[in-house]
Amino acid sequence: MTHSWWCEHAWLPAGPVPRVRIEATQQGVITTVEPGVDPRPGDTRLPGLVMPGFANTHSHAFHRALRGRTQHDEGTFWTWRDRMYALADKLDPDSYLALATAVYAEMVLAGITCVGEFHYLHHGPGGARYGDPNAMGEALRAAAHAAGLRLTLLDTCYLRGGIDVPLQGVQRRFDDGDAESWADRVSMMSDDDTFRVAAAVHSVRAVPAEDLDVVVEAAVGEDGMPRPVHVHLSEQPAENAACIAAYGCTPTRLLADHGVLGSATTAVHATHVTAEDIQLLGESTTTVCVCPTTERDLADGIGPARALADAGAAIALGTDQHVMVDMFAEGRGLETNERLRSGQRGRFSLTELVDALAPAGHAALGWPEGGRLEAGSLCDLVAVRLDTMRTAGALPAQVPLVAAAGDVDTVVVGGRTVVSGGRHHALEGVGQDTVAKLLLSAVQEAWGTH
Ligand SMILES: [Zn+2]
Repeated sequence: MTHSWWCEHAWLPAGPVPRVRIEATQQGVITTVEPGVDPRPGDTRLPGLVMPGFANTHSHAFHRALRGRTQHDEGTFWTWRDRMYALADKLDPDSYLALATAVYAEMVLAGITCVGEFHYLHHGPGGARYGDPNAMGEALRAAAHAAGLRLTLLDTCYLRGGIDVPLQGVQRRFDDGDAESWADRVSMMSDDDTFRVAAAVHSVRAVPAEDLDVVVEAAVGEDGMPRPVHVHLSEQPAENAACIAAYGCTPTRLLADHGVLGSATTAVHATHVTAEDIQLLGESTTTVCVCPTTERDLADGIGPARALADAGAAIALGTDQHVMVDMFAEGRGLETNERLRSGQRGRFSLTELVDALAPAGHAALGWPEGGRLEAGSLCDLVAVRLDTMRTAGALPAQVPLVAAAGDVDTVVVGGRTVVSGGRHHALEGVGQDTVAKLLLSAVQEAWGTH
């Protein structure tokens, strides 16, 4: 197996550099990065611009089956959610494995080498426990292994249908009964080389204030270090109104008062936050995961990403409900939303956008050793072609703002080639289906329309 590569261009921590050799150990850790050199015999040549593997910091894999099936009516986030619940009602561990495998393969083909799965579809219909109470989470592990990417399972505590509202209908599949039972179930799962277990609070709507402390206490690794805690935050004004009515404060303030904010925590969306919220998130160095393609699709609004970054929050990106799986589109959305709001260009530098695509997301998902092309980092590489219709003529330094997922040629995860020539080795080999066919079949199976 090859453990050295030569890149026409590579995006090093300070920006793109031509003619770069990269060497890695057998275990897939980068040992050497040499710019401005010729290839050596035995090097695998990577075309175009090689970037660090992208971290998709916020995913709900099963929402992929909603793509192109919710666009027909007027509506809101809440009417979209009704459709999502209809889908959640149908999945079982087998159909979830098939769907998530295809979705994660779509991600790898788009250059995503690490995904944070915000997982709350825990139990069977009516809340019945599977023989293995983690059968759905284990299906996600198996899917990630089959697709060849790293996965952080953000196992989600989800106890209420709203503040002081019991879970109803399909929501009972999300229910562990209480926070301690949630923590017990999560503690039964273990890490492996490419899979890490972490925690999530669905939202302040779904977890009572007193249980926030239980989640934070449970999110500690065997080494005593805090594990990531993710939480949906202020995606919709209705959440803020309900929180203020019940607790007399914003969701961000509630999280701060219960010790949820901090450098191991990621707030997802933070779309409708106050000036004080921005200060709390920034001062606590909480990561904010922005999901621009989802936020526009669901008519959520545009969050104050630049103000959050200026206040001290790290910014990461996620494809969330997967209306598209294209991290370039997420990065472009982060910047162009700011342009529309401010009337200014270049609100995020290209370096900041790549930080959001790779190292910030890796850190938020508990892989701080990932996301950079430098010695000691995980050897996760994405080669982006510079000779496609979209990228032809672009300066390498500006490619992150013009490329698309289809421009990804080669993907290496932990030193192992998972994609080359735009094809997934394990799932699109000779005589096998394409990932598109896998998606079609899995989506049809999920809806029961085979
Ligand atoms: Zn979400």
